[in-house]
Amino acid sequence: MSLKIYIGGKYYDKADAKISVYDHGLLYGDGVFEGIRAYSGRVFRLQQHVDRLYESARSIHLEIPISREEMAKAITGTLAVNNLVDAYVRVVVTRGAGSLGLDPRKTTDPQIIVIADAISLYPAELYEHGLKIITAGTQRNHPAALNPRIKSLNYLNNILAKIEGTNAGCLEALMLNHKGEIAECTGDNIFVIRKGEVHTPGVDAGILEGITRDAVIELAREAGYKVVERSMDRHDVYIADEVFLTGTAAEVIPVVECDGRPIGTGKPGPITKDLLKRFHTLVREAS
Ligand code: PMP
Repeated sequence: MSLKIYIGGKYYDKADAKISVYDHGLLYGDGVFEGIRAYSGRVFRLQQHVDRLYESARSIHLEIPISREEMAKAITGTLAVNNLVDAYVRVVVTRGAGSLGLDPRKTTDPQIIVIADAISLYPAELYEHGLKIITAGTQRNHPAALNPRIKSLNYLNNILAKIEGTNAGCLEALMLNHKGEIAECTGDNIFVIRKGEVHTPGVDAGILEGITRDAVIELAREAGYKVVERSMDRHDVYIADEVFLTGTAAEVIPVVECDGRPIGTGKPGPITKDLLKRFHTLVREAS
């Protein structure tokens, strides 16, 4: 059976799911999106994802033409029509079709697209042995230019850093902010563990407020670890006992090398493994 894709309230077969080439989402990256996971038929933190989508839209002055409740139903409905219980859901809201000029006032009807598909994670062995990363030369977007808290369709900043990573043989790359502090990776947030404490850059470092990041902060606190949001630089990563990344697709993944330096013992550490286990339990139990 062909995958059914939601566009503006209707379901289309994958091959027929199309929008205008005049859509400003395509022409200018003008729009917002979300990446969401369903585990055993339950959508993980659905409300938080829907809220972040509407906040991103608000910030770019885009009014989503359906309510948050309708959006949540479009997401669960797309999973249901496709009989998917474990899946990755991509929600996209574009500015809509307009003229060949930037002016968003010349656009009509924003397009709401929901795609539910198989999940694509890092290869399984990396969860056991850890990921190698490099620091990209491409800086994370300056918050005063395009705030990284907006999950916009304009992801070139991250894509350029990702290209640097893959050119260096790494599946992820660390991005620094305009102050030279560590911000986040191209599609994941970063955590650093030192002397038993869990540290992560604060939102003011210019990062996406990751929903997995939030969940892991909560889990770590519940488990009795001290969690500190603070400004860090690459030295903090190099001298860390453990490093891991978090993201909806990645979940919790250990990092064992950065810029050629082994992190800690060069193997995934005990706190990372503990939090990874706790995260798996959480997604199985919670929604
Ligand atoms: N940072 C960036 C730049 C991302 O694209 C993502 C993935 N959406 C994340 C962090 C992780 O966020 P979340 O846990 O909400 O998926």
